[in-house]
Amino acid sequence: MQFDAELLLLAMAPVFLGCIGWEAWHVRRTHPEARIYNWRDTLCNTALALMHQGADKLAWLFVIPVYAWCYANYRLFDWRAGWWSFAVLFAAQDLLYYVFHRCSHRVRWLWAAHVVHHSSERMNFSTAFRQSLMYPVAGMWLFWIPLALLGFPPKQIVGIVLINLAFQFFVHTQAIGKLGWLEYVLNTPSIHRVHHARNACYIDRNYAGVLVIWDRLFGSYVGEDANEVPVYGIVEPLHTYNPLKATFHEWASMACDVARVRGWRNRLNALFAPPAWAAQYHASVRVGQSAFDTAGHTQRNNNAAV
Ligand SMILES: [Zn+2]
Ligand SMILES: [Zn+2]
Repeated sequence: MQFDAELLLLAMAPVFLGCIGWEAWHVRRTHPEARIYNWRDTLCNTALALMHQGADKLAWLFVIPVYAWCYANYRLFDWRAGWWSFAVLFAAQDLLYYVFHRCSHRVRWLWAAHVVHHSSERMNFSTAFRQSLMYPVAGMWLFWIPLALLGFPPKQIVGIVLINLAFQFFVHTQAIGKLGWLEYVLNTPSIHRVHHARNACYIDRNYAGVLVIWDRLFGSYVGEDANEVPVYGIVEPLHTYNPLKATFHEWASMACDVARVRGWRNRLNALFAPPAWAAQYHASVRVGQSAFDTAGHTQRNNNAAV
């Protein structure tokens, strides 16, 4: 019987649920005052995971033929199956994941999907379940096309994408401290806690999927500081446990902003500028400033930090 790679995450569900059970038990025993789990938050996360699984399954139907076409017509290499080709596929996909993840934090169109993963103010294993069914619409699948061009068939692409995602489940926890030399090689719970924090010194750092070497190479690595406790969530808090609101709120906000601002430059910024643009625009609306209501006035705002 052949294992269907598309079902990897569902097949691992018992392991994921076991980890959640262990973490909830462990934290209650060691830090009874810490409220790491909330059943509404966990239910919302689980609903988001199931919605994401459904959308992903559907998306592969459309995306796999695109990979197959690129592979059949434009592949650069032919790989003999073995550890060497697996290592190249793994490293290439992990690097592309880093690029995708970094873009997802710097381009609002992609952030509109990725924000779902960050909008909880809690951090536990179930936070890994928070995924968006809108990833296929945002264009996440485009980032894996280079793998087909490198000569990897669609089934291997789907498999490695899901292996990467499955690994990332295990970095969503506060129950595990720093892991010694592994902190130099792998994405770890400590490294990923920083990624989920909105503290000024932590925000937009540590984009690693499996290997943290990309963050260290490209200057986006920050270590967890024992004196700076991570504060989880997003700059403009969501305050809902409704999975549909969590999925679509940023898309709705983006559409409102596009309709509201004047001038093509502002509209393009509303769609593709870093998310900080939107936070600053919303702040300006709250205080009645009009800098964004006319074309050509956004450059200075665009570069400002939130
Ligand atoms: Zn992220
Ligand atoms: Zn995460």
